[in-house]
Amino acid sequence: MRYKRLLFVSTPVGPLGGGLGGGVELTINNTAKALRQRGYLVEVVAPKNSKLESLVIHQIGGQLQKSIQEQSRADPIIIFDDSVLANMWQYIREIEHNYDLIVNFSFDWLSLYLTPFLKKPVAHLISMSSLSNVIDSTIAKTLKQFPNTVAVHGMDQSKTFSFWEQLLCLSNGLDLSQYNFCAKPENYMAWVGRISPEKGLEDAIAAAQISKIPLRIFGLIQDREYFDRVCSIYPDAPVEYRGFLSTPNLQKQLRLSRALLMTPRWVEAFGNVAIEAMACGVPVVAYRRGGTSETVQDGKTGYLVEPDNISALVLAISRIDEIDRAICRKQAELLYSLESWGKRLEFWFDLIAEKENA
Ligand code: UDP
Repeated sequence: MRYKRLLFVSTPVGPLGGGLGGGVELTINNTAKALRQRGYLVEVVAPKNSKLESLVIHQIGGQLQKSIQEQSRADPIIIFDDSVLANMWQYIREIEHNYDLIVNFSFDWLSLYLTPFLKKPVAHLISMSSLSNVIDSTIAKTLKQFPNTVAVHGMDQSKTFSFWEQLLCLSNGLDLSQYNFCAKPENYMAWVGRISPEKGLEDAIAAAQISKIPLRIFGLIQDREYFDRVCSIYPDAPVEYRGFLSTPNLQKQLRLSRALLMTPRWVEAFGNVAIEAMACGVPVVAYRRGGTSETVQDGKTGYLVEPDNISALVLAISRIDEIDRAICRKQAELLYSLESWGKRLEFWFDLIAEKENA
């Protein structure tokens, strides 16, 4: 173990625990757990009002960063006055001597740009597909100067970048003890995620309406106008919005569902909710696009269907009961445990250390 003391850098789009950071929030939590189990010391720098169980959080004030999904590919970088992102990195420069490795989870130009100006090595775990020209070219420059320091979650995600061969694919991991297996579901399906256009909620609602199976929606309403519009298109659909829930409360309801629907319009980098569902024994019916095309095994842990095709979704939903829920849980245990996640992360850190010492 070359790097023992780790400093995580959280997303600057929102405080940890609030939901604005999407899957990154759970990833940070699970990554910290996986590494602490292996004897690492982990602390996090995050926006003010962040909450994360039993972890030292350095809370930093300032204006939150705008989500990258709200911007266009060619947009310039926007840094507000009193930016939390800039404040976080200023603070990291003051305390970096206390750590061996900085692990960055933010998808931001500044975090990449600053890499050569820090005394300690920075590992970047990229949780988005290619969405911004300027971020892409800054990742490429970072890789040139510091090979192996940039990792992603999946192959589909990596291939959205022109320099994909240089990216390490690490998948992800989950604290399985937080999710209970449920063999006998109730008669409803679940849709879980930030409510925002790129997540394609409308297709799941359309499929629920045709299938006549109730759909429960869980997640933060990030784009209220979009949500209202989707609801107005399907006023009679059997859907119910259940709010944004903590992981323990989410899994209580997710595990009772017959299936999780995942209908993203974008190349979802990983899609944490797929492995959360599997951990509860819930099959996933998803578009064959992005992370789910790797996490879901068609016909075994759910169904992968042609993207943006509602009839294909409906057909797959009609076959949900053919999936063995115990196999879904087993797959989660086999591939996404904290132990296997910790091993993959350690392999990555060792690669970085090798290059640093070369
Ligand atoms: N989530 C949650 N409570 C909810 C709904 C969602 O904590 O009520 C979390 C969920 O556990 C997952 C994240 O929101 O970790 C969504 O992450 P995902 O990777 O699926 O998509 P992203 O938001 O990153 O696009």
